[in-house]
Amino acid sequence: MSKTVEEINHKIQNKKAVVLTADEMTKLVQNIGPEKAAQEVDVVTTGTFGAMCSSGAWLNFGHADPPIKMANVWLNDVSAYSGVAAVDAYLGATQPSDKQGIFYGGAHVIEDLVKGNTVVLKAFAHGTDCYPRKEVLSAISLDDLNQATMCNPRNAYQKYCAAVNSSEKTLQTYMGKLLPRCANITYSGAGELSPLNNDPHGRTFGVGTRIFLGGGFGFITGSGTQTDPDHGFSTLMVQGDLKRMSPEFLKAAVFNGYGPTLYVGIGLPIPVLDADIAACTGISDAEINVPVLDYGIASRDRPVLKEVSYGNLKSGWVEAQGKRIKTSPLSSFAWAKKVALELKQWIEAGRFFLTIPVEALPSRGSVKTLSVRIPKTDELPSASRFSSITEDRIQREESLCIHCGHCISLCEEDVFHLDNKWHVIVDAEKCTSCGTCCDACPTGALFLVS
Ligand code: SF4
Ligand code: SF4
Repeated sequence: MSKTVEEINHKIQNKKAVVLTADEMTKLVQNIGPEKAAQEVDVVTTGTFGAMCSSGAWLNFGHADPPIKMANVWLNDVSAYSGVAAVDAYLGATQPSDKQGIFYGGAHVIEDLVKGNTVVLKAFAHGTDCYPRKEVLSAISLDDLNQATMCNPRNAYQKYCAAVNSSEKTLQTYMGKLLPRCANITYSGAGELSPLNNDPHGRTFGVGTRIFLGGGFGFITGSGTQTDPDHGFSTLMVQGDLKRMSPEFLKAAVFNGYGPTLYVGIGLPIPVLDADIAACTGISDAEINVPVLDYGIASRDRPVLKEVSYGNLKSGWVEAQGKRIKTSPLSSFAWAKKVALELKQWIEAGRFFLTIPVEALPSRGSVKTLSVRIPKTDELPSASRFSSITEDRIQREESLCIHCGHCISLCEEDVFHLDNKWHVIVDAEKCTSCGTCCDACPTGALFLVS
């Protein structure tokens, strides 16, 4: 027996869809099996609420008068990336404040904006003829922005390795505080509620899938960076309108000694199209295994203390090295369940419909490491391609010309013209070496040579 997304959406429209959260589905599948569960249930809602450092937002501030092409941008003294002219900036969640250090960061600015608080925008520029302003200082709020788009390159890890510390000193890490001599284990991820654990082969979601993101609607835009489906550590890249999100599901946090991060609530609806998908959504914490890595060894390839299941981790202790080691989560299961419940209620109320992805995410792939090697001399970045105007005849570096045509209107001697294929032809004999075109070519293709 199988269903289609269209059939399920029809049921949602008529408020007749049967929706269970992932943990409810686990119990049902254990009780009646996947075949019957697939007949009874239309949608399974998942949820996770953990520290997702690879998060941030694109913000568009609008143009001041006179306008500015922002080169350096800060929001509440947190630097944002602004190499995308002229009034856009990407604010990363883990960027620490210039003044408060790690105790306030991009995550806090995002939370302040979503809460409706005012933040201070400061920007500098070198000034251009088209953007003459060189600085701006302004109090702004989320409502003042043209767009505020959460765009997170790596969220919703399928599962995450647990952490322990065999060294003699306490470690402050992104996995929280790790006590010496293996005195505690921390772990992250939502286990059986985790979105990607409930459809590990990505049969029901992909590019374009509508999801719950930060209390509002969002979309999957692709695989997350460092996605590793070969080893069961897939991730998602997601996007959503920050203006429609809720501070309840976006919380700034600081891991002492590490820095700021953003807790993000994400939920995927899994359409139960057949018994195979029902079986996947029936996954339990006892079936999801992760290694406990020793952060006491300062290496990328940390040794494994032992393999454990989320069931073990959630029990509150793990037995290793002849002792019981206390475990504690870093993700919130309470909020993960809240995400799954909220999404369930949206679907039951006919406010959230399922989508068919426009493209599947890769089901294979693993993560490469960075091999650090000193660059050779000819690999070092070269000096600017742009020529100084000292010589007397135009020459074009053909490999650099993109035939944009900008040089045509600049040359009074008609050195440049278009052929019938829209290629820019050069008649260098006519050149009088005025130099007007050289510094205007956007790719640095034009030189004056003797
Ligand atoms: S401006 Fe530069 S890139 Fe554009 S057509 Fe002229 S030479 Fe080519
Ligand atoms: S240097 Fe002056 S004359 Fe020569 S091609 Fe450029 S614009 Fe034309």
